[in-house]
Amino acid sequence: MIGPLSGKFIDNVNPATAEIVGQIPDSNEKDIAVAVHAAEKAFPKWRLTSLEERFAILNRIANLIEENLDTLALAETNDNGKPLWLAKKVDIPRAAANFRFFATAIMHFATASHHNEGVSVNYTLRQPIGIVGCISPWNLPLYLFTWKIAPALAAGNCVIAKPSEVTPVSAFLLARICKEAGLPNGVLNIVHGTGAVTGEAIVTHPKVKAISFTGSTRAGERIAGLVAPKFKKLSLELGGKNPNIIFADVANAKDAWEKMLRTTIRSSFENQGEICLCGSRILIEETVYEKFKTDFLQMIKDELTVGDPLEENTKQGAIVSKVHYEKILNCLAIAKQEDGKILCGGNAIQLEGRCANGFFIEPTVIENLGPDCTTNQEEIFGPVVTLQSFKTEEAAIALANASQYGLAASIWTNDIGKANRMAANLEAGIIWINCWLVRDLRTPFGGMKNSGVGREGGWEALRFFTEAKNVCIKL
Ligand code: NAP
Repeated sequence: MIGPLSGKFIDNVNPATAEIVGQIPDSNEKDIAVAVHAAEKAFPKWRLTSLEERFAILNRIANLIEENLDTLALAETNDNGKPLWLAKKVDIPRAAANFRFFATAIMHFATASHHNEGVSVNYTLRQPIGIVGCISPWNLPLYLFTWKIAPALAAGNCVIAKPSEVTPVSAFLLARICKEAGLPNGVLNIVHGTGAVTGEAIVTHPKVKAISFTGSTRAGERIAGLVAPKFKKLSLELGGKNPNIIFADVANAKDAWEKMLRTTIRSSFENQGEICLCGSRILIEETVYEKFKTDFLQMIKDELTVGDPLEENTKQGAIVSKVHYEKILNCLAIAKQEDGKILCGGNAIQLEGRCANGFFIEPTVIENLGPDCTTNQEEIFGPVVTLQSFKTEEAAIALANASQYGLAASIWTNDIGKANRMAANLEAGIIWINCWLVRDLRTPFGGMKNSGVGREGGWEALRFFTEAKNVCIKL
């Protein structure tokens, strides 16, 4: 571990208390040059490690993440503001699962061969690219950081990785874990700093041959512009404005309705609504619109406690930073200007005690807005959802697709034919039928339209982090 060459640091703030809790290196292009040099030295040996050896190291990292669950979860909560129980239940177990999944996946990753009768046999080599860059956001810090790093390492690459400057601590702790697990020096280089300086230094470094980026569409556009003329491989997982579509037949069964409501509470407000997959546009069939509204608002009132992220009964914690908190409040001001009717929430909350200065916002539901307004078009990435009604299946598809984004969609219906027709017609990379955020790490993950380019997960990730080379043998 080495400090920034400039000697400069950035304050790290706990958003639940607004206190400065530490400092992180403000790295620049000189630090990236050092990291790339270390990766260059490590690559010739790492690329030749046996699959068993890579499996063993990555699997040990997974074990150590599990052993350090409490420390890592607390780091995540203190940096991000998410409830501690959520970090323990979701973020850290998933980070371990990412390493375990790709540790085993690389043992089974096979390539194709093509027999051209009497002419040739072709086989495809899948070789590591070399040095790759992985850049991740603040909403699911270790979860998304490891989702990139694990397949990149499994495929035999050396990695320069940058977590968000807003949530750096779990990445710092991961570096220690990787060392303890026996990952050789220089194979994984975690560099801290801002997107504009550190991130761009990674993206533009000529020896970094591929970039895997998760973050905003704005930053994705900037990165795509920088790397396109350099012909680097690029994977972009960007923003979303996902529809959550509820058909009237769900109300026919009490259990199904209850399950839909509970899941919709989660898909609207889990992690303070700061999940790219959250269903921020709720579309409801007209005949059950009023029933949905009444039941949904009641459940929010009864169950959605906003509070100190360290408290067991807190369902919604702090917004990640002052900047993001102000952005969400500005979005709420715009919704009001657009004549949105605020059904609940709409304001900041001042808590008492330890969290008196923290960044908290009420869970907010808005109606009376059309599909084209700013509130229904721009990603807010906070605890804010809108309600819109539709009459027919065709109208539901048109409303759902009326977005520049195409990341995910949820469909609620007991009519399997309707569900499959909707799935085929929705412009989104991920469709959930009667569920939300149910993940199988083997499936392709990613978005259409302005939600990104390429897919992560399973073989897709291993293909991204390898170069395909065809070898043709004349028969
Ligand atoms: P962001 O501002 O785009 O930042 C994401 C990461 O990129 C951070 O590490 C950031 O560094 C870095 N960065 C920013 N500008 C950069 C540049 N020009 N060059 C290189 N790196 C740069 O996004 P965020 O606000 O952290 O995260 C929220 C966004 O991520 C939302 O739009 C959300 O939908 C999206 N997201 C998408 C997915 C998905 O799978 N599709 C998953 C999660 C989140 P700093 O933070 O240090 O500036």
